[in-house]
Amino acid sequence: MIYKRSSALFAEAQKVIPGGVNSPVRAFKAVGGDPIFVKEAKGAYLYDEDDNMLIDYINSWGPMILGHAQADVVSAVIEKAKKGTSFGMPTELETEIAALAVSMVPNIDKIRFVNSGTEACMSAVRLARGFTGKDKIIKFAGCYHGHSDAFLIQAGSGAITFGTPNSPGVTEGTAKDTLLARYNDLAHVEEIITQHKGDIACIILEPVAGNMGCIPPVAGFLEGLRKLCDAHGILLIFDEVMTGFRLAKGGAQELLGVDADIVTFGKVIGGGLPVGAFAARNEIMDFLAPQGPVYQAGTLSGNPLAMAAGYAMLSTLNDRPEIFSSIAEKTEYLHQGLEQALIENSVTHTINRLGSMISVHFSETPVRDFDTATNAASGDAFKKFFHNMLGQGIYIAPSAYETWFICDALSREDLDKTIEACRKASKDIA
Ligand SMILES: *Cc1c(COP(=O)(O)O)cnc(C)c1O
Repeated sequence: MIYKRSSALFAEAQKVIPGGVNSPVRAFKAVGGDPIFVKEAKGAYLYDEDDNMLIDYINSWGPMILGHAQADVVSAVIEKAKKGTSFGMPTELETEIAALAVSMVPNIDKIRFVNSGTEACMSAVRLARGFTGKDKIIKFAGCYHGHSDAFLIQAGSGAITFGTPNSPGVTEGTAKDTLLARYNDLAHVEEIITQHKGDIACIILEPVAGNMGCIPPVAGFLEGLRKLCDAHGILLIFDEVMTGFRLAKGGAQELLGVDADIVTFGKVIGGGLPVGAFAARNEIMDFLAPQGPVYQAGTLSGNPLAMAAGYAMLSTLNDRPEIFSSIAEKTEYLHQGLEQALIENSVTHTINRLGSMISVHFSETPVRDFDTATNAASGDAFKKFFHNMLGQGIYIAPSAYETWFICDALSREDLDKTIEACRKASKDIA
């Protein structure tokens, strides 16, 4: 495949945009080469500026769970736009999407809409601190909760890919209130709680980690965290920005049967427009301004276009819950095919999967936390695999620390084509 025009556009972009991109992982730094510029997308396919067609396993990093340019979402946005794009005043649609989200997700009474997953997580932590009157938070190495200061302490995804897990610009004062734990290691969390008894406002985590590859929680991990939080007056925050409205209607809380105190959303909830949200039971949400003392606001929060896209997305998922099992089955089919292809070519690997989240690690050791994920990502295998797949028209995330996002628009033929591409790519890295 030829990427002449993409490369030319990238050169132009670099003159006026830092690194040529508006979000770091887009830049291919971890895999080398120039990023691909998209012209348009439909269903499971991307069409780039050189007129290549690619099967898309990023899906805008999660939101396009039904595929690109889904008809209901597109027409909802177009119709809304004709009536004005922002008012900074309440609209009925905000109540409708809030009521729908509250009905789909277990254990929440109220939800506040913001503009990104970053904002949602940042606000959730402020709310937890305000509610408990405590300052410290526990986060897990390799979990990503957006780019707000308190989270850029061994964050996953782009932050690892760039080798700057502790970003310059984050003050020591901020860093000292973020306590870092090992994912899937309950004893470590208990140790930290004991060391900082009475000082911890919340534990925040991805209930299924998706920003160090896909790492499901080991049996008892989430349940154990729930018990520790109850015993010590700590709030449990599930960052469901990736898992929410993806693993099930009610996200990881529903699928894994563990209740969080505060839940954050992003990605799917906006149907491809900039939306985030955080939600909890009344007792906690009533602490938020204007009802309570914890301040949080947004000029464009609850924006009509974003709400229209989100509402179209959520109501489709609500009306057709079989979508969740359909994408999980597609993911399982892909898992089996990829595994077979890798085995045939004697490529050492570990595939992690839960629901429609899957990642291929080129290492034999089980990948269950940040250290094992980093270890698995250390060689050149992923880079080679990525470029080989891309050459065959398969677009996976340009970093070993990402989940593949499976959308419902993928057909059996697309999956077979992907598996066949993997078979060829495996020969390259064997
Ligand atoms: C993507 C992501 C975020 C950040 O959301 P943005 O909309 O990019 O700010 C936060 N948490 C998790 C788990 C994510 O996957």
